[in-house]
Amino acid sequence: SKILEGFVPEYESTVTSKLWDENAIMLGKLNMDEFAMGSSNETSIYGPAINPWKTQDNNEKLTPGGSSGGSAAAVAADLCLASLGTDTGGSIRQPASFNGVIGLKPTYGRCSRWGIIAFASSLDQAGPITKTVRDSAILLSVISGHDKKDSTSAKKLVPDFEAFLNSDLRGKKIGIPKEYQIDDIPNEIIELWENGMAILRDAGAEIVNISLPHTKYSLPAYYVLAPAEASSNLARYDGVKYGYRSSLKNDGGINELYKRTRSEGFGDEVKRRIMIGTYVLSAGFYEAYYQKALKVQSLISEDFKMAFSSGINAILTPTTPSPAFALNSKIKENPVEMYLNDIFTVPVNLAGLPAISVPTGLSKNNLPLGLQVIGPKWNEQEILNVAYRLEQDANFNYKPEEWWNNK
Ligand code: GLN
Repeated sequence: SKILEGFVPEYESTVTSKLWDENAIMLGKLNMDEFAMGSSNETSIYGPAINPWKTQDNNEKLTPGGSSGGSAAAVAADLCLASLGTDTGGSIRQPASFNGVIGLKPTYGRCSRWGIIAFASSLDQAGPITKTVRDSAILLSVISGHDKKDSTSAKKLVPDFEAFLNSDLRGKKIGIPKEYQIDDIPNEIIELWENGMAILRDAGAEIVNISLPHTKYSLPAYYVLAPAEASSNLARYDGVKYGYRSSLKNDGGINELYKRTRSEGFGDEVKRRIMIGTYVLSAGFYEAYYQKALKVQSLISEDFKMAFSSGINAILTPTTPSPAFALNSKIKENPVEMYLNDIFTVPVNLAGLPAISVPTGLSKNNLPLGLQVIGPKWNEQEILNVAYRLEQDANFNYKPEEWWNNK
């Protein structure tokens, strides 16, 4: 964000401190959408990171996804072994799917948010982006755990996820939610999903049709709740305490300074969210929008709770409704088109659940496609194990450069 121009953090985040403590080697920072708002990396003031994959038929630059698109692109391009991202509505899983790598969003409260700039504090979680499920398990154990500096991080024992990796799925019940079979979903995504089901069935799991009836309200609820929290979190950027300050001649006093700084410092998408957020929280609209969205959020959570309490061990869905799209291709005048990208990932954040995206196939244009495995709260082991099996049997070992070199 331009509003953070020149800002150097004065302390380390807990998740990165934990990596340092285990002697991880840090190579640098990666690009992302401004304040993690976006699905294409294009809201970054630096411009987007570029997906290392290209379609077989043309040379178009593709989005790495967002918001943690830089993190996923760097892993896919082999610039690093692994990276971290944050996920408020899908920002680890969607880029992982677009780049053919593994992305895990932990249960809300599994990792400390200390040192991570808040977008929507009740939804944000950090998580690993890796080349293998095993690496995901290793990193998750390292970055997890209670932190007294973040009261929303849970006092839960952190398992050694790697030690318990197990691809034997006999007796497991895998739920397939009928509401995720949305209209307009391309055939290749349906096929990918069916292949995933076949792999799990062959591994001894039982595939069970389930219903999550409030799924269709997830995006509308998210786009009330996340902007509401964001508008409050972003109130601290005012040009006074730190970061960018408008240098225009100012004779209108402190309010004018705030106004100019924020008008010049925030990008369009961030401004849109601040406006939506302040609107839904304002007197007169608070009950109609914000409180209503909270009620919808409870219903969405309940849907998942019912499924898991009926004996379902994990839920299998596609991660995204399409493969990576070309940069600049989503109509800027219609932000809702961009928001639709998160249709399969957002419900998970609203319910605070863990989920992982695993690449299991290629689109007809030879772009990676991922499947999402969603688990009950605090049971990252379950989704890692299902992902481990998908990884072994889907055997996705394509690399982006294969297509480049064949041109
Ligand atoms: N793309 C979603 C949004 O723009 C999710 C972002 C995220 O998870 N940080 O809000």
